[in-house]
Amino acid sequence: MNVQPDLDFIKHLKGAGGDALKKCYQCATCSVRCPLSSDDNPFPRKEMIWSSWGMKDKLVADPDVYLCHNCGDCTTYCPRGAKPSEVLGAIRSYAYTMYGWPAGLAKLATSAKNLPVLIGIPVVVIFVMWLISGGMHIPSREEFGTYGYQHFFGHWEFKWYAKNIFFIVLIMASSLAIAGFSLYKGVTKMWKTMSDNADIGSAYRPSVIQFVSQFLWPSLVEIVKHNRFKECTTNTDRVRGHLPLMLAFIGLAIVTTYSLVKNDIVGLFWPAAHGPMYFFDPFKILANVSAIALLFGIYVLWVSRTKTEAAGESSRTFYDWFLIWQIAAVGVTGLGSELLRWLSLPAVGYIVYFCHLVAVMMLFLYLPYTKFAHIAYRTVAMAFEKYRDSSFGKPAVEQ
Ligand code: SF4
Ligand code: SF4
Repeated sequence: MNVQPDLDFIKHLKGAGGDALKKCYQCATCSVRCPLSSDDNPFPRKEMIWSSWGMKDKLVADPDVYLCHNCGDCTTYCPRGAKPSEVLGAIRSYAYTMYGWPAGLAKLATSAKNLPVLIGIPVVVIFVMWLISGGMHIPSREEFGTYGYQHFFGHWEFKWYAKNIFFIVLIMASSLAIAGFSLYKGVTKMWKTMSDNADIGSAYRPSVIQFVSQFLWPSLVEIVKHNRFKECTTNTDRVRGHLPLMLAFIGLAIVTTYSLVKNDIVGLFWPAAHGPMYFFDPFKILANVSAIALLFGIYVLWVSRTKTEAAGESSRTFYDWFLIWQIAAVGVTGLGSELLRWLSLPAVGYIVYFCHLVAVMMLFLYLPYTKFAHIAYRTVAMAFEKYRDSSFGKPAVEQ
């Protein structure tokens, strides 16, 4: 076999946590110990040798890289301290950048030295929107007590659609649209490279309904139940943190959808639907419980990551910490805004709310290029695994 090592790729792996890569002597203890590896498709031993050879194209098209849940069992038992879980994490971070669109934004989100720009983009966008809206002001205590943050972007006398909602939807929907398009492009490309790599032909394809019912839906159920995560044995804190975090995001997505339907659809026909949710509104309770779960989950993951770094089992990388910081910022500023409203402190409340909008926009806009992208790439890899093992996944020559 003629191997053409990609030296830039090896350099990226070393800088992104895979610095102990060369210590691997291919004993395969990691593949035996990995609770998610199967007899038919064992990992991560093969990924270790491919990484040390710089086989970038093979690795970014390898579903096992995305099926890894980064539990660290392999790293704990590796007799050479080669940290295979870190190497797989570094490959994923490279793949998200490679598949990400637009390329400039994807590259920007890979380095701590770009943090001023990464924070500056949403700061400028939201500040300019605040200026354009004409709502730029600090409210009186009375106004703050009555409307909370509902007049952050000002108020107009058009009763059918609140000005605040218009501007927030404009900012967040645009960010999500860029992220959604980028993820769509990325996972489509990943699926094609995985199919080509596995020599899966296109003569017999599942219908959309078959694809969803047989491959995608079972994968989503598995993810929500955390079945695979629970198989990890050494770092059980990760599942204790990841599960409440995921449920928190689901809860917040439900509340956001409800709020959008109430304000943006029902509100168009029934203006009284606009307005803040009262404290004992079930959706308000769900929002607050989700926010607490989010903070609890991110705290557990923060402590867990700090411990594994202190024990030398993982490296301190921007890829891992950026997402932790982002989620913590969303949770702290979100709860902080609400607390400041209860305390009737409009000036500080508006500043914290501004920071909250910045944090949420960062989470949405950079989703496809950060560790957060695993929600799409891992889901697709799990669906691909089921597809590959089904009758649809037989090599083209056998069909
Ligand atoms: S990473 Fe460690 S456990 Fe895995 S093959 Fe290499 S030396 Fe063995
Ligand atoms: S980190 Fe966990 S899931 Fe990933 S390869 Fe290692 S043992 Fe397997």
